[in-house]
Amino acid sequence: MKGNRCLTGEQIQELKEILLQKKKEVMEDIKRGLEANAQAEREIGDIVDMSTDEFLRTFEMRIRDREAKYLKKIEKALQKIEDGTYGICEKCGACIGYERLKLRPVAELCIKCKLEQEKFERKFGEE
Ligand SMILES: [Zn+2]
Repeated sequence: MKGNRCLTGEQIQELKEILLQKKKEVMEDIKRGLEANAQAEREIGDIVDMSTDEFLRTFEMRIRDREAKYLKKIEKALQKIEDGTYGICEKCGACIGYERLKLRPVAELCIKCKLEQEKFERKFGEE
């Protein structure tokens, strides 16, 4: 594994393994969620009325959407490892830092840019 100006080859290798592990976990979670949903539908059957059913569907959709987004972030991080740009802040080009990446391997911004982004989001109430 080749290093770049922010991370050594060994550090990238270690973070890649964390990312691959997380990817596996999320995919298993999604699969379990789908199975549980199918199971619940069979068990509840015609007892629930349509509105409750719709509510459950909406709720399940939201969870899956969040997981799908996370999965995309993992894919993007793995792609950046291939491109040699992993660990470099997308906004200012600074090093995100090995310790931060170990806690959050999908991080795209350095801590300074992340805090600025969160401040902005709180101010305008966006996600
Ligand atoms: Zn930055």
